[in-house]
Amino acid sequence: MFTRCGNLCAEGCSIYAERPVTCRAFVCAWLRGDAILADEDRPDQLGLMLETCVSERLGEAAIQYVQIWETRRGALDDVDSRALALVEALSERWPIRLQGYQTGTVYLAPPHMEHLADELSRRAKATAVAAEPGDSCPCGSGRVFEACHGGES
Ligand code: SF4
Repeated sequence: MFTRCGNLCAEGCSIYAERPVTCRAFVCAWLRGDAILADEDRPDQLGLMLETCVSERLGEAAIQYVQIWETRRGALDDVDSRALALVEALSERWPIRLQGYQTGTVYLAPPHMEHLADELSRRAKATAVAAEPGDSCPCGSGRVFEACHGGES
């Protein structure tokens, strides 16, 4: 489960000039103008934030998927919501890594790629089990696991 970054303040990022490399590398799909999102899908209105073209190695292959964060608690709870409809529509075409308040981290995939979702889920569980206090975060930020994305600078 993700938590609010401890460097976030009322004006935005309090360490913007020195923000970690993972923050510098992040590109919001809506801000970039990805065709899968409409103008009204701006993260603060949709309740989701997306990153496309995220890749992960799976054996010899590099799997590309769409990363989706539920940024407003409850955005995915309403069965009639635009957010849920968008996740369902995208998962019919691409593998999805969804991090939601209720769901935790889950992988979704089109029927012909369900084996990838199963394998990525299995590895995500293995990563969670393997993370001990002091371990480096698997995101590659160079920070220890419990400090990365957990609110400590
Ligand atoms: S996630 Fe990164 S860019 Fe955002 S507030 Fe935290 S340190 Fe700053």
